[in-house]
Amino acid sequence: MKEVLSGIYFIRGIDEAMPDSHTYLVGMPDSGDLTLIDPGLMHKGEYKLSEIKRAGIELGNIKRIILTHTHFDHIGALPEIRKELPEAEVWIHRAEAEPLSRGDERHVYGMEMFKSICQGHYGIEDGHFKIEADRELNGDELIHIGGMEWKVIHVPGHSAGSIALYSEALKTLIPGDVIYSDYAIGRFDLFGANARELGQSLKLLSSLDVKILLPGHNNISTGLPIGYIADTLRYWERELS
Ligand SMILES: [Zn+2]
Ligand SMILES: [Zn+2]
Repeated sequence: MKEVLSGIYFIRGIDEAMPDSHTYLVGMPDSGDLTLIDPGLMHKGEYKLSEIKRAGIELGNIKRIILTHTHFDHIGALPEIRKELPEAEVWIHRAEAEPLSRGDERHVYGMEMFKSICQGHYGIEDGHFKIEADRELNGDELIHIGGMEWKVIHVPGHSAGSIALYSEALKTLIPGDVIYSDYAIGRFDLFGANARELGQSLKLLSSLDVKILLPGHNNISTGLPIGYIADTLRYWERELS
């Protein structure tokens, strides 16, 4: 686990045959009110919780789990992490929380073929991710957690209920799979995805002052070039219109 800056920790995902999302832990160390963002792939919960414990953080201080979206590589470890953190709330954008509560897992797997692969590989069945969120996010909230202020921004396009978390004070953006730090963007061919919406979401994010970008995969950046999101959008514009 790496401290990006005070109150933001980064646990790198470990990809296997399938990608494992990065996990972030946010909240001031003495607040006793930490938030875990994106558990990651199935069977990837244990090493992440071990890293947190090894850093001297008590798991009981993790009060909630926020999902940037519910793709398998982000939500897969949620059931196992919840076993260790039974008191922690789960917050998901309503566009994905609502179907998930009914056991509709199309946002999890994205496509039938991927569903068969995941279910076969991990020996799980339909309904494994029938999960009731404790809080459904709208994507326009200003949340005060762990002595910090984060803006929740609905950024559909990669998935219907994707959210980004933004701290204006820290110029830090946690965009899930909407944009990465190497001029790449999230795929937009899965269930609930929409190229045009992804373009609009990137446009929205490009208006923010971002110095630290903490995406769901690949490298993180702590010195983002000015205009980076706008430049990335320009690079992809033709595919997104
Ligand atoms: Zn992902
Ligand atoms: Zn994704």
